[in-house]
Amino acid sequence: MTIQDNHLPTKELQALDAAHHMHPFTDRKGLNEKGVRVITRADGVYLWDSEGNKLLDGMAGLWCVNIGYGRRELADVASRQMMQLPYYNTFFQTSHPPAIMLAQKLAELAPGALNHVFFSGSGSETNDTNIRMVRHYWASLGKPEKKVIIARKNGYHGSTMAAASLGGMAFMHAQGGLPIPDITHIGQPYWYGEGGDLSPQEFGLQQAKLLEQEIDRLGEDKVAAFIAEPVQGAGGVIVPPDSYWPEIQRICDEREILLIADEVITGFGRTGNWFGSQTFNIRPDIMTTAKGMSSGYMPIGASILSDEVAGVLSEKGGEFAHGYTYSGHPVSSAVALENLRILEEENIIKTVGVETGPYLKQKWQTLADHPLVGDARICGMMAAIELSPDKANRAAFAGDAGAAGFICREICFANGLVMRSVGDAMIISPPLVINKSEIDELMELAVKSLDQTAKALTQEGLLKAA
Ligand SMILES: *Cc1c(COP(=O)(O)O)cnc(C)c1O
Repeated sequence: MTIQDNHLPTKELQALDAAHHMHPFTDRKGLNEKGVRVITRADGVYLWDSEGNKLLDGMAGLWCVNIGYGRRELADVASRQMMQLPYYNTFFQTSHPPAIMLAQKLAELAPGALNHVFFSGSGSETNDTNIRMVRHYWASLGKPEKKVIIARKNGYHGSTMAAASLGGMAFMHAQGGLPIPDITHIGQPYWYGEGGDLSPQEFGLQQAKLLEQEIDRLGEDKVAAFIAEPVQGAGGVIVPPDSYWPEIQRICDEREILLIADEVITGFGRTGNWFGSQTFNIRPDIMTTAKGMSSGYMPIGASILSDEVAGVLSEKGGEFAHGYTYSGHPVSSAVALENLRILEEENIIKTVGVETGPYLKQKWQTLADHPLVGDARICGMMAAIELSPDKANRAAFAGDAGAAGFICREICFANGLVMRSVGDAMIISPPLVINKSEIDELMELAVKSLDQTAKALTQEGLLKAA
């Protein structure tokens, strides 16, 4: 018996989990009836569960394990840092080498004038920071009334009160009294689902102009910032039409508002460049980062601010009354630095950009020929397909939204592939280190699962258009 297998039998673990463990984004009753799947170890792009089943992790955990599982270098760095200095704060005019070196490295990697780093422990916390920071920025310039933040429907920015308010997920707003005041939401560039008879380019332009209309509706003197993900992740890997971001950038340039790019998923190589802002040629004033910064090995997040924003806060802002016990945590920072070293020295992002990304793209796009698939879209190492009962009309299913996606997800799991469903879209975001033969395997499992899903939907009478 190896150490990794030295755990209680699955049934007992499931019973204890059901008794004591409350899961995020989970219907507890439904899960406990079925029994949780227990993951016990991982290596490269693969996971193993407590029953010994091997799974290809098409989601890199939760969009975060960019360098793949099992990298001893990160464990060694964490162990050394814990013995050297496991914790110290950065509040009271103190700092430590890991936070200093990581801030410098992020400033070097982030494009343009994004040179100043405020650390947090997660993406949600980072967006909470951003809300307070942009409002404090305008207040420091004598414009405290500029405080509304414009975000997007079906955007995802995290799960704290403020981050979930920035997000445009209606089912999240329905619980706990969200959104908080002074946040508004405009439409998203989701051509497949909402573009109707417009071409993707026409629709992209139309959705970008919603920002201009919203600024005018609110009054430019009331708006602090616009926040968006370069490619929506949790919303269903929505890759915007080419016309979208240039128009958003034009509006942000012309109007006196800040642009926040939420790069929690798109940062650190996911789109084939270091940041999605480079892929889409946008110039944010602030970037939200987390997930891939440490490849998920330790929790960490950071706001990366432009010289201009940081300059105003430094010169005029006084004390910024905000911070987290774990801002710049030494172990997280050291692990993140080692992760960035590996991403850089092993040319992992370049490989995604010029080799494995294009290879996956060419294969992924062939899924659009499958009878069950209404659309196949991809950007770097994040991709989606839309399941449809009538692909010619981009039709939704007649039954409950998400039922077909859920069936497909279960079939994928049974076949040894982690592919997530968002409504009736299936999405992947594999570790960036996935190689060509592993991509071939992912594609074979995806096609096999789609065939079985089509069969299952037919048998259950669900293959009907709304
Ligand atoms: C995951 C995510 C977040 C939230 O990050 P947490 O670490 O879960 O708090 C924020 N923004 C985007 C775009 C994300 O995908």
